[in-house]
Amino acid sequence: MKIKLPGPVNLWLAPALIALLGGCSTISSLSVRHSPLYYGQAHVITVKATASDPAGIDKIAFKIFSGTMTACTEYGGPPSGVPCRENVVQQFALPCSFPAHPTHATCETTVSGSDQSLITYSAQAWNTKGSVLNTDEIETSGGAPLTQTTYGGQTIAWTLAVPIFVHTKSLSGADQINLGFYPNQDYAQRPWLINGAFRDDVNDIIEHAFFNDADNFAQTYSGTIAVFNLWAGPDGAQVTPHIAGAIPNDPANSCDTPLFMFPSIGSGLLSASAVITANAVLHIADCRDNSGVKSYHQFKTTVEGHSSGVVGDSGWVLTHESGHLIYGLADEYGCDGGYPKVSTPHNVFSSEADCKAELTNQNIIAVSPTAKCAKITDDSNTMIPQANRPVCAMKTSGFGQFRVDDGTLETMKDRIATSSWRNLSRIAVGKTIANCVSGNCFPP
Ligand SMILES: [Zn+2]
Repeated sequence: MKIKLPGPVNLWLAPALIALLGGCSTISSLSVRHSPLYYGQAHVITVKATASDPAGIDKIAFKIFSGTMTACTEYGGPPSGVPCRENVVQQFALPCSFPAHPTHATCETTVSGSDQSLITYSAQAWNTKGSVLNTDEIETSGGAPLTQTTYGGQTIAWTLAVPIFVHTKSLSGADQINLGFYPNQDYAQRPWLINGAFRDDVNDIIEHAFFNDADNFAQTYSGTIAVFNLWAGPDGAQVTPHIAGAIPNDPANSCDTPLFMFPSIGSGLLSASAVITANAVLHIADCRDNSGVKSYHQFKTTVEGHSSGVVGDSGWVLTHESGHLIYGLADEYGCDGGYPKVSTPHNVFSSEADCKAELTNQNIIAVSPTAKCAKITDDSNTMIPQANRPVCAMKTSGFGQFRVDDGTLETMKDRIATSSWRNLSRIAVGKTIANCVSGNCFPP
């Protein structure tokens, strides 16, 4: 199917639409990103644009601006949880020209990410017919974050959330899902942002969950990055294993619901988490990750960092837990999952009749002809890979629940990179993302 889009338009959303519509890749597209995504100390940032156009690419150029990070007190109010920027200057980058007019082209440039700086960038591409494609403007942080600010005539200690990959068209707008990553106290106290372990874990998770076309579980978010703003939050969050000194991966040893403590020295944690909808606390301590559920819990989840050496698939964990956190999805595995009926549509049902009704209502068979309602059973010894998970002996809340099963690995059930959101869970995630595209991710 060839999709015609009116031009010139902002085609940043094209991958999202392709992902939602299941279309093909013969249309024009332009995307831009930077690397490393998040660093926390002065470094060189590489910005790369990738353009495709069947008419041939003629030129790619960047617009890059840098400025100084502030806590917004220059506007007279109290210090903020997310930064403002002042002293903005344009950074110049030589455009890339493509005399051979390839249908696929990339262009790279570098910018200095000095301490307490905020960088914004966007890309433009021209095809051989003179049509122009533009990306959204993306904001990221340069070097070390703000550690103090001036308020009420005094200099006070202050940290705040910094942008990792944020669309400036709506820094905290209703049309974006703002997701923040916060260091648990076990990543060490300040200077938290130059703690390499936290930095590496945040980059690992984001690269695997949001910039990863290869793994099935990541394709939804990688195709809809246009509706996500990613932040690194300040310190002060606390995750505690429910059982101190428990054996590694003991399923009974849940991470207790994260506390957002107010640190003894100034932190914008509470202000930041008021702006950032979905809050993921990264921890090193061994405890079983879990999540609050959209609409009746705080928007908080826990993710065990890769650097702990225990969990090597933190990107999948973040994606699975975000299924609970952002969309209200239930677990689809048996034994001891959580089975709330919150998402729209629900993905788990208390009766087979309710499941069949939704199966028909959503016309699932049209997309997945083999889909049928199936009882959730104790599959704890066959879940992939659950080597450390004993055969279900804890409770039986999963029994008597029903899910749609089409024989394909499901991210709310199967802990493996080849899983994806299927059927009802896919519809629920797609509805929220479509709401974002329409201007309000979470309508009342
Ligand atoms: Zn779960």
